[in-house]
Amino acid sequence: MACPNPETLHIVCYPDPILSVKCAPIETFDASLAAVAEKMLCLMRDASGVGLAAPQVGLAIRLFVCNWTGEPEGDLVCVNPRFLELDGVGEMIEGCLSIPEVEVTMRRATTATLAAADIHGQPFECSGEGLAARVWQHEADHLDGRLITDTMSATDEIANRRALKQLESDYATNSKKVGRR
Ligand code: ZN
Repeated sequence: MACPNPETLHIVCYPDPILSVKCAPIETFDASLAAVAEKMLCLMRDASGVGLAAPQVGLAIRLFVCNWTGEPEGDLVCVNPRFLELDGVGEMIEGCLSIPEVEVTMRRATTATLAAADIHGQPFECSGEGLAARVWQHEADHLDGRLITDTMSATDEIANRRALKQLESDYATNSKKVGRR
């Protein structure tokens, strides 16, 4: 992985193409990776989010951070995560820090067991239900380039049409600005 300056990382928004990329496994666990994870936790907290995946800060690597507890000790960093078990099914309205103002009802497993590596490369497993299981599935989807807007019902499509159009137009305007530099 190139060594990004963590200070320059920021949350990228739909429809940035990085959000649709299948991310690459992480093989090097070094200080720059730890700095990226630390910065992602800060960005997540500042945005009052419960999870943030690497592509959401412009990096196509298999890393996400999350904290659904609101307590500092609830921070969890997952590298190269994979599900060992997914069970049950439930619906909940989800948002995404990369798709502001958009809410989509998502059907997901209600319990999950996740295997991942920590920031030092140490493997671990964790099981969770409810919000924890949901956040893991949402963030793991990001690592495969899947967004909540990919599978919207007709009702959600109508409800979110205006916000998505606005994001697309903002993105086009910002891309032009960058191109002019
Ligand atoms: Zn998201």
